[in-house]
Amino acid sequence: MTADATLSRRPLRRFWGWGLADARLDARELAKVKAMVEALDVPFAQPPVPQAHDFALPAPRVTPPASLAAMFSAAPLDRLNHAGGKSYADLARMWLRAPPAVPDRVAFPEDERAVADILDWAQANGVAVVPYGGGSSVCGGVEPDVGEGYAGAVSLDMERLNRVLEVDATSRAARIQAGALGPELEAQLRPHGLTLRHFPQSFEFSTLGGWIATRAGGHYATLHTHIDDFVEATRMVTPAGTIATRRLPASGAGPAPERLVLGSEGTLGVVTEAWLRLQSRPRFRASASARFADFFAGARCVRALAQSGLHPANCRLLDPLETVFAGVGDGRAAILVLGFESADHPLDAWIARALELVRDHGGELDAQAVARSTGAEGGDERRGGAAGAWRHAFLRMPYWRDPAVGLGVIMDTFESAVTWDRFEAFYANVKADVGAAIARATGQEALLSCRFTHLYPDGPAPYFTIAARGAADGSVASALAAWREVKRAANEAVITHGGTVTHHHAVGRDHRGGYEREADPLFRRMLAAAKQVADPRGIMNPGVLLDPVGRHVGITGALRET
Ligand SMILES: Cc1cc2nc3c(=O)[nH]c(=O)nc-3n(C[C@H](O)[C@H](O)[C@H](O)COP(=O)(O)OP(=O)(O)OC[C@H]3O[C@@H](n4cnc5c(N)ncnc54)[C@H](O)[C@@H]3O)c2cc1C
Repeated sequence: MTADATLSRRPLRRFWGWGLADARLDARELAKVKAMVEALDVPFAQPPVPQAHDFALPAPRVTPPASLAAMFSAAPLDRLNHAGGKSYADLARMWLRAPPAVPDRVAFPEDERAVADILDWAQANGVAVVPYGGGSSVCGGVEPDVGEGYAGAVSLDMERLNRVLEVDATSRAARIQAGALGPELEAQLRPHGLTLRHFPQSFEFSTLGGWIATRAGGHYATLHTHIDDFVEATRMVTPAGTIATRRLPASGAGPAPERLVLGSEGTLGVVTEAWLRLQSRPRFRASASARFADFFAGARCVRALAQSGLHPANCRLLDPLETVFAGVGDGRAAILVLGFESADHPLDAWIARALELVRDHGGELDAQAVARSTGAEGGDERRGGAAGAWRHAFLRMPYWRDPAVGLGVIMDTFESAVTWDRFEAFYANVKADVGAAIARATGQEALLSCRFTHLYPDGPAPYFTIAARGAADGSVASALAAWREVKRAANEAVITHGGTVTHHHAVGRDHRGGYEREADPLFRRMLAAAKQVADPRGIMNPGVLLDPVGRHVGITGALRET
């Protein structure tokens, strides 16, 4: 087998970082990363990047029957690409050439029948199955670290189920296979003049099935924040059979079944397709940016906007340090990036009222950056000012992280949601607790910034970014050890101060401790009972979200006590 052999039909991905194997930073980006790394007192001398031949992989423990064999790969690149997601810890463990688990094999089913056949074989042979979409999980959702008691573990990659199967233009909905990446499904909807418009930052490399399984958050800051809001019906293959929900605009008939599928994180079955509510492509846009000397004044303005009924599509408030990370400010003021979009009507009245609220709350408008686009579709890339700069940085940031991780720099994020009445204390306390943990673990003052990713009338979803040098010896190993302490502190802080352990990154392995504090024990028993019905032998993604009934998998993955 050649070193670059793979059964995947997609362009080769970087198993130790973000993007395609041949992704590059341009000179300006490299200079930016260098400056940031050096500001943390870390010399910028890039070590050799991981190669597949650096890893000694154990022999696969399980062999599928001849009837399924053609769908399975044991190629080192496939196994490494499916060994983990894209969290800081996943990447650091690749730089250390020490992923905690690799799948025995990777399955690439062609269709739903093949998914069911693989689950039948796995169930009969005690093999754990990890559903895999784009592998962009940042909470330990896809690593096959499944605990004891399984004959082996396979990663089930949905890449070949990537088509838009049906479009109902009358109801404005489409039936889409779960393995479609964001760009793939948008390209197939474009000829119909329709769009899903769910753009998480990981859009390029994440799938519809992954979004549904994790309840992903898209780019809309208000109104349709999670993928939940676009899901009309779902279809999921479980070890006990296939469950399909009925296409309906809404229903009051008991608890909604698709609500059990949303957020199930591969622990109940494999989502194979879903009907999604679509939209017409926006033709009208209006955007602006403003500065606030005080972050809390900005937060009060954003609360007024969230409670105004104006429903801005973009409404990101960046604290002063976050403006530096995003390259849109100098760290002296908070910046609000505001945007409206519509397929139907000009937005002059909306932006005018929003700007009134900004002024009422002491915001200083960046006059250069108030932009309106009408008529033919205003492409996202044409936006100017802080809004345009922020959007560009938003899409490129994941690429900037890769070289820093290899230099022993911790670059990570954690996110939550909290009601407005608790927000100010939450922000201050979370920053204090996590900042103290960073100082303890690294001996350095924390670089800990915050922005709001999503907003609700009753509260924001604050999103924190950490940049820190691991430890004085500058090794990736000491950075990863420091990260564990910081991550535990962050999980603890968001729950203790009244928030959720995750607003949209999901539970996976890394947030299980917080989830177990957050979710009522009776609810967790009810969920485990549902899993027992769908997955009686507990083969679906063990270690993630909850333990199967009668089996203690516990917390595995990057936060496991070693
Ligand atoms: C740079 C970066 C930016 C990100 N930005 C965002 C963001 O803006 N918003 C956001 O919400 N998240 C974001 N994430 C997190 C991640 O992209 C989301 O959780 C996304 O929904 C995962 O989709 P995926 O297809 O990559 O799923 P995977 O990572 O492959 O899987 C995630 C979980 O879903 C399960 N799963 C996947 N497919 C299926 C299926 N078909 N059936 C059943 N279970 C399945 C897996 O078993 C796993 O538990 C980001 C991650 C990165 C690395």
